[in-house]
Amino acid sequence: MYVYLNNRTIPSGEARVSVFDHGFLYGDGIYETMRVYDGVVFMFDEHIERLHRSASLIHLDLPKDSAAIKMAVYDTLKANYLTNAYVRVTVSRGHGPIGLDPALCKEPTFVVIATDFKDYPRSFYDEGIKLMIVSVRRNIREALNPQIKSLNFLNNILAKIETKQTDSYEALMLNSEGYLAEGAISNIFFVRDKVLCTPSIECGILDGITRGLVLAIAARSGVTVEEGDFAPEDLYLATEVFVTNTTMEVMPVSRVDAAHFDVGEITKLLMANYRHEVKAYVREKKGESPSLWQ
Ligand code: PMP
Repeated sequence: MYVYLNNRTIPSGEARVSVFDHGFLYGDGIYETMRVYDGVVFMFDEHIERLHRSASLIHLDLPKDSAAIKMAVYDTLKANYLTNAYVRVTVSRGHGPIGLDPALCKEPTFVVIATDFKDYPRSFYDEGIKLMIVSVRRNIREALNPQIKSLNFLNNILAKIETKQTDSYEALMLNSEGYLAEGAISNIFFVRDKVLCTPSIECGILDGITRGLVLAIAARSGVTVEEGDFAPEDLYLATEVFVTNTTMEVMPVSRVDAAHFDVGEITKLLMANYRHEVKAYVREKKGESPSLWQ
């Protein structure tokens, strides 16, 4: 396996990052996760844009412009002969003396990891996954803005740990006010009286790229959408529930705590329309993306 480190692809076994890297010492850095379908990086521009936004929110100058980041991703895919893949771009503050001041680090560390995409089990889409509302609250925007896709992932990891002794697949966090926020790695949606509901960005969540696309698809498909503050009881009384993220796409939820849900009509419609959207995107961008096999 090859990974991209700073300026080139190298065998993963030879890739070394300093123990003085502030990403390692302090979680000082950012990342993006992308999915590649048939050689095309889905919503590539949106992911690169969000990487720039995260960088700007932590006052980090990215070591590459958008075109160079894209080339690094394609080089990594090519080096590993991947066409259906999971890609992670990580940028840390870089190495420097101990101390919090970002100015101690002269050069950010830039890494691209790409692996073959392993499909989720079919049953996850046919029957849905289980969720539990965990006791860990989503960190407040004023402390660490969830809009920053930061290497400080402990909030989400602590939420995930709570699910480990259960059969729940994903942890659902409330915000500090007790309203629904988001999953450890996903955004949450539910249907109530045929209205598609989802916590608003102001609840202190990541504006997931999949979430944004699903909202646009819903509007185009004639589904009424409501973004706002919702209590756990609103979710328990829903008729349909699903989560979204880049790798899961639209994934139905069969249970949240003691509440059970079927995979409903609106979820099925959005799952199908999301997949159409992916196909159309891949068709459109195929010409623009470099052939990975040359
Ligand atoms: N919320 C959190 C906390 C996440 O980690 C993710 C995954 N990046 C998402 C939501 C979904 O975001 P996206 O649709 O952009 O993958």
